[in-house]
Amino acid sequence: MRLPALSPHRARRATPRAPAPSAETALLAWAFCLLTLWLVALWAGPVLLDALGMALNPHGHRHLHAHGHPFVDARTLLGLPNAMDVLSNLPLALAGAWGLWTLPRVSLPEVTHRATQTFFAGLLLTGLGSAWYHWAPDAAGLVWDRLGMAVTFAGALSLAVAERVGQGPARPTLWVALGLAVVSAALPQLLGNVLPWAVVQFGGMALIVWAVLQRPTAGAIGIRLGALIAWYALAKALELGDEAVFHTTGDLVSGHTLKHIAAALAAWPVLAATNATGKAVRLRQNAADPGAARA
Ligand SMILES: [Zn+2]
Repeated sequence: MRLPALSPHRARRATPRAPAPSAETALLAWAFCLLTLWLVALWAGPVLLDALGMALNPHGHRHLHAHGHPFVDARTLLGLPNAMDVLSNLPLALAGAWGLWTLPRVSLPEVTHRATQTFFAGLLLTGLGSAWYHWAPDAAGLVWDRLGMAVTFAGALSLAVAERVGQGPARPTLWVALGLAVVSAALPQLLGNVLPWAVVQFGGMALIVWAVLQRPTAGAIGIRLGALIAWYALAKALELGDEAVFHTTGDLVSGHTLKHIAAALAAWPVLAATNATGKAVRLRQNAADPGAARA
């Protein structure tokens, strides 16, 4: 039996190519710049933040609303404080749990599998940590919120490298990004220094934007990185526009609540690619062994 015809998109990623040396060089250059900026942020962050008037308060934020929290929507629903910002974490946790549940049924290249697992585990942790933090926002809870994001972020960066540079460079990317992001997530609480966290976030976004412009390479499973970064960028914009969105919608929903939902939708391209890969593998197995498919 012949295998079903592949779409042009799938056909492109079905043809493995060795990592382009220029892509590896660009990745090394990015890593060097990121580490340099991160060390500068670690060393000079508090001084720079003070000079720019961006020093953090004990809540880990610059600005608090009259109700004492850094988020505009503090309404209580059925006894649940800050209900909208707590409940809107559910899609994040569900996306992570769904991804972790489907992953064992999908055959992926080794590093892509590890990065995907990290990404989904991070989403689940972010959903739970963020819900806990928003229930009673304080600086310690914010560390748990950011730790989940750090794990998700490391998975996303490693996936972008696996898709556009290769499996080999994706492995150190995962561990280096995980270490840097986890340490950066704790620094605002430990040293009052949020700058390394900002460097990791915006530096990571820059890497994914660059990856979008590269061609898929060996082992790529067809994750639409453009969609992933677009949802993430929208989430950041909604986060910045927390109060403006709340007032624009007639105090119906805040920017931060929508941020959680947009961030959960950033998981969709990864879920779609892993599910499509699982289906393609099953089709090939059925084509190779029709009797097993009917059993
Ligand atoms: Zn939040």
